[in-house]
Formats: sequence, C-alpha cells, structure tokens
Amino acid sequence: MSKAGADAAIGRRGLMLVLSSPSGAGKTSISRALLERDANLRMSVSVTTRPPRPGEVDGRDYRFISKPEFDCMVGAGDLLEHARVFDHHYGTPRAPVEAALAAGHDVLFDVDWQGTQQIAQCAPQDLVRVFILPPSTTELERRLRTRAQDTDEVVRGRMSKAVSEMSHWPEYDYIVVNRILEESVTKVMAILAAERLRAYRQTGLPDFVNGLSGE
Ligand code: 5GP
Repeated sequence: MSKAGADAAIGRRGLMLVLSSPSGAGKTSISRALLERDANLRMSVSVTTRPPRPGEVDGRDYRFISKPEFDCMVGAGDLLEHARVFDHHYGTPRAPVEAALAAGHDVLFDVDWQGTQQIAQCAPQDLVRVFILPPSTTELERRLRTRAQDTDEVVRGRMSKAVSEMSHWPEYDYIVVNRILEESVTKVMAILAAERLRAYRQTGLPDFVNGLSGE
C-alpha cells in the first residue's frame, strides 16, 4: 500500500442510527453512553408537545413546544417524521439532521416505530434500525417505577402500551436485549462499527482503490 493510501481517510456517507424501545427499556442510558464514547455521533433532538419531566432540559432532551408550534412545523415540512405517542406529539426536525449528515456525522435517533417507518420510506439506504428489548416485563415495570418521574396512571398506561410497541421488533435490523447496560452499549457500538464499513457507505472507496492500483 502506498503511503498516501495508508494515511488517507476514506470518504463515507453518514448513517442514521435509530434506537427504539418501549419506555423504560434503557434506550436513553444507551444513547447517552454512545454519544459520550463516539465523537462522530450526533443526537437528533426531537420536538414534543409533552411537558418536561423533572431534570429534563429544553434543547438537550427535547425542544418542548406548543401544539400550534408543532402544527406549524408539520405544515412547513420542517419535520423529517412525526407521530403521536401516548397523548403527545413528537417529531424530528429535518434541518439539523441534514446538516449533520452533510458534515459527515452519523445521527442517533430516539424515535418510536412509527417514526422509524417514516424515515425508512425517505432514506432506506442510510438507516440502521436497532430495537432495545427489556429482559422481562417485571424488570420493565421496575425501571419505570424507579425512574419515579411518571404518575402511577402514566406507568400503567406505558406498561400496557409496551406490549404493542414490542410487537414491532421484526421491523428492525438488530435486536438487543438490555440485560446489562455496559454489554448493550458494546453491542450497539459493534453494530455502528460494522454498518460504517458497508461498501456502499464508503463513498471514497473508488478513488482509494484507484490509488492502490496506480502504484
Ligand atoms: P418519552 O415521552 O418517554 O420521552 O418518549 C415516548 C416515546 O416517544 C418513546 O418511544 C420515544 O422513542 C418516542 N419519541 C421521542 N421522540 C420522537 C420523535 O421525534 N418521533 C417519534 N416518532 N417518536 C419519538
């Protein structure tokens, strides 16, 4: 291999990594760990009409907006996807995702199965879908209660919806059962590493290989 070939970074398309799961399966902890460890990954911050939970920060966890503002964004085509989940509306602002991908970053999404289906329709090649399952429904309920941010009624509602959400697992490329957080993070990082190496994502390969054969 020539020195130039060995040193050159091969150009690559950014990918869209979607993590979905029922609430309480550990997706937020996995996302935080991925963002800490992977400098190239950017989080897509959703907009929502849901009120903030204690500790949530506007602009970091979500952009908390009113229903009229949400409707306005939908009307203007500013959302890449949007869905009603539980009694609230959620959506992915389009512009930051496009900017991150154009800058060569990969983007991490925490969206439900409805959002995943919509992204799959507009960008199937760029999408990598990971579904996080809890080890058991008992553990799921324990995690929802330990989080102690939702009322009993909300927890009951989320438990009953978890079963229908989990039925969407076959629509995903990878399934991770989140028994031990550290192991789950390692698995998702392995998925990310492999997906980055897919031939069609490495857009700089033709030039790189030409350089190799020109030696
Ligand atoms: P939570 O209210 O617990 O933060 O989120 C509830 C559900 O909404 C989760 O399943 C989460 O993945 C989903 N969600 C969060 N943001 C978005 C979004 O922008 N689009 C869609 N479709 N779902 C979202």
